[in-house]
Amino acid sequence: MIFLVGNRSSYVIVTYSKNVFVPLTRTCRNKCWYCGFRRDKVDIMQREEVEKLFSMVKDAKEALFTFGEKPDVYEGFRKILKLMGYESFIDYVVEMNRIAIKHGLLPHTNAGVLDREELMKLKPVNASLGLMLEQAVELECHSESPGKKPEKRIKTIKEAGKLCIPFTTGILVGIGEKEYDRAYSLEVIADLHDEFGHIQEVIIQNFKPKKGTKMENWKEPSLEEMLKVVKLAREILPDDIAIQIPPNLVEDVYPFLKAGANDLGGISEVTPDYINPEAPWPSIESLKKKLGQEFVLRERLPVYPKFVKLKLYGSALNELIEVYSDENGYARSRSVQALRESI
Ligand code: SF4
Repeated sequence: MIFLVGNRSSYVIVTYSKNVFVPLTRTCRNKCWYCGFRRDKVDIMQREEVEKLFSMVKDAKEALFTFGEKPDVYEGFRKILKLMGYESFIDYVVEMNRIAIKHGLLPHTNAGVLDREELMKLKPVNASLGLMLEQAVELECHSESPGKKPEKRIKTIKEAGKLCIPFTTGILVGIGEKEYDRAYSLEVIADLHDEFGHIQEVIIQNFKPKKGTKMENWKEPSLEEMLKVVKLAREILPDDIAIQIPPNLVEDVYPFLKAGANDLGGISEVTPDYINPEAPWPSIESLKKKLGQEFVLRERLPVYPKFVKLKLYGSALNELIEVYSDENGYARSRSVQALRESI
C-alpha cells in the first residue's frame, strides 16, 4: 500500500507482528531432508509449560503455534495424549489455543495438512491459519514426507478458502526445484486466492542448510536468486496478498522491500526461531534503521487489516481483536499491557 503524506512524497507500509513462538511438538510424521526441527523422540509441551511461556510475554499479541505434522500417527504419542486427557491431537491444539486467548494472545496455527473437520475445530480459536505450500511439485527432499505431497497441501489451502479462513502460505526456495517450478507454485497460490480470496500473505523463504540433515552440504540460494523470486512473486500474486521475507534469514531486508516484499513476519521477544535457531531475530529498532524514508514499519495482528475489517477471524477472538486493532485494521500502538487492562 502506498501513501502520500504532506511534503513526504510517498511511502510504503511494511508490516510485522510481535509474537511468541510455541513449538508444541517436534514429533512429525514427515522426514523432510532439510529439517533440523524434527526429532525421532516423542515429545509434547505440557499445559504448564505452555502457560509458563505465555506468562513471560510482555509485548506480543500473536501466539505462533508451529509444530510437527500429524504426530499422532505414532502410537507412543497417542498414549501420551490420552494420559493428558485428549481424544485427538487437534483437540489438544485447540485447548492450547484457548490458553493463549486467556493470556490475551491471538493464535495463528501452522498445523500442517488438515481436513475440513480439523479446520472447523481450529477456526473459532485462531486469528488465521497457515500452511507452507513449499513447492507445488514433487521433490526428492520430500520423498519421505507424505504430508508434503503438493495435492494434499493444496487441498488444505482450498478447504480453508471454502471456510473463509484468512490464510498464510509460502514457498521454500532452493530445495531442488527449478526456476519454472517457483513460478508454477506462485501461480497455484494466485489461483487459489482468485477462487476464494483468503490468502493474506505468501512467505518467500530461503533454504538454509542445517547440520546433521541430508542437505547439510547444499548451497543456499544466492541473494540475486532470492530477489528474482520476490520480484516474480510480486508479478504473479495479486496486490492484496502481502509478500513476506523472514528478516532473520536475510542479511538486509532493504533490497527485498525494493523488490516488492512488504511484510517481515513475526518477531519474538521471548522465543527463538525454533525452525532456524541459528538465526536470531533482529530488533525492531535495527529494522527501522534499515528502511530509509520510503518504507514505514507498522505492527499488524496475525490477521491482516483487510480481514480484520471483514471480521473474518475466530469468533473467540472478537473482544481481543476489537481492542488490539485500530480503525484501519492494524495493531494499536499502545502497550499491550495497557490494552489488556482495558479489556
Ligand atoms: S519441515 Fe516440518 S513437516 Fe518437514 S519434517 Fe520438519 S517439522 Fe516435519
